[in-house]
Amino acid sequence: MAFHSPTIHADLNSLRSELTGSLALPGEPGYELATPWNLAVPVRPLAVVEVHDARDVVSTVRYAARTGLRVAVGRTGHGAVPIEGDVLFVHTGRLNTCVVDADTRTARLGAGVIWQDVVDAAAPHGLAPLCGSSTAVGVVGFLTGAGIGPLVRTFGLSSDHVRAFELVTGEGDILRVTADQHAELFWGLRGGKSTLGIVTSVEIDLMQLSHFYGGALYFAGSDVAAVAHAWLDLCTDLPEHTSTSMALLQLPSLPQVPPPLAGRFTVAIRFASVASPDDAEALLAPIRGVATPVIDAVGVLPYAAIGAVHADPVDPMPSHEFSCLTEQLTHDAIDELLAVAGPESGSPQTVVEARLLGGALAREPRHRSAFCHRDAAFTLFTVGVPVHGAEVEPVLSHAELVAQAMSPWSTGRSLPNFASSADPERIARMYDEDTAHWLGALAEEHDPAGVLQVGPVVRDVGGASAERGVIM
Ligand SMILES: Cc1cc2nc3c(=O)[nH]c(=O)nc-3n(C[C@H](O)[C@H](O)[C@H](O)COP(=O)(O)OP(=O)(O)OC[C@H]3O[C@@H](n4cnc5c(N)ncnc54)[C@H](O)[C@@H]3O)c2cc1C
Repeated sequence: MAFHSPTIHADLNSLRSELTGSLALPGEPGYELATPWNLAVPVRPLAVVEVHDARDVVSTVRYAARTGLRVAVGRTGHGAVPIEGDVLFVHTGRLNTCVVDADTRTARLGAGVIWQDVVDAAAPHGLAPLCGSSTAVGVVGFLTGAGIGPLVRTFGLSSDHVRAFELVTGEGDILRVTADQHAELFWGLRGGKSTLGIVTSVEIDLMQLSHFYGGALYFAGSDVAAVAHAWLDLCTDLPEHTSTSMALLQLPSLPQVPPPLAGRFTVAIRFASVASPDDAEALLAPIRGVATPVIDAVGVLPYAAIGAVHADPVDPMPSHEFSCLTEQLTHDAIDELLAVAGPESGSPQTVVEARLLGGALAREPRHRSAFCHRDAAFTLFTVGVPVHGAEVEPVLSHAELVAQAMSPWSTGRSLPNFASSADPERIARMYDEDTAHWLGALAEEHDPAGVLQVGPVVRDVGGASAERGVIM
């Protein structure tokens, strides 16, 4: 492999000397930063560059362009994709500026900030950032994938609330990107993942929200059919002050898993509402009426506890994911889902989630973005976590069975943030043809040498054509 070459080693030392941050080769302290949260994904770059500032990113990108290497970027590895060979991995963890401006209700965040940092910094001001289900996820990885949070139907995509990015392009230029400056990049960064460059900081709006009504109701597997059908009824005409999802769970017997959920099949109804507690509670009453929860963890919560809605796992684990978007689900669809992933199905998946979309998400924001699927009704997501030597293959083949079972309702598309992939075919499902074309064309313009052509990026679309429709 290339990192055995003395020439490249010597060269990497020249890059090392340019950096304020640090560079680690395999076996050196700092290389372990490449180890992703998702332990199923091999991330073995030539070297890890722990950048200290945007200049370090510039040095890394320009060095890679000179030497024929490529550059990938990441923070937590929640959306890791395989990386091997001649790739420098930029780790953003040290870009940890987190400044909340309570007067303008905005936050300025380094690319290394994770959502919990922002939630905690904003909470004393009664303000809330639009994070995702897991507050351990990186802010920038989430926002560049558009960002579907627990209150998405109320506030829309989290990336609809970005004000500005600082970006290092594949040519090593540092750009401030807003709706008015480099507007085409502002369009593409919100949904295009790392296609258009490495974000070094971001400015976002904060919502005025100190509390919400929400959490999760957990039911026994024997109640899943009644609960699932009642949940689908809840989803019909649900006001946009409320967001919800249903998760079929098979959580392992671990100390951190509450005993009523450990080592058995359960179903969770996740719920987050900014309606008055009385109104929100009334919406949930029919579900509470069909069965008795084994855990009822829904009530008025401080926004700082938003992570409790999904209660996503925190510790790194090997995770195999599948995702698709669907049109309106019917009661037949629920029956099909339970047949393939319910308690009697032999499903090896740890989580099978259906998340209701629509509401504010369905409306185009003031400044359009590269997010494509505002018309989808639900997103379906499977997560298999084979542990203790369990086989991976049954998880993967079962995910295909879920896909087949749901195909009558599937749109054939998926979200850029769910089931991350570097596979061009899977990436193509995340965008419509026009958006993929424009993302690819913008990437060619700002990264002609293909330095950043690694990971979940859109390239190889045949170049821009003046004849194509204008999208911005
Ligand atoms: C448990 C769990 C819960 C999740 N919940 C949600 C959810 O509710 N809603 C949702 O929308 N998504 C969710 N996700 C998906 C998550 O938002 C994406 O995987 C996101 O990309 C993670 O970003 P990261 O930086 O933490 O991860 P990483 O794996 O470090 O990065 C993933 C990708 O993000 C991009 N990226 C990261 N940093 C930068 C940067 N500085 N510049 C440019 N691109 C960058 C790159 O393409 C990189 O390959 C969840 C994932 C997990 C594992």
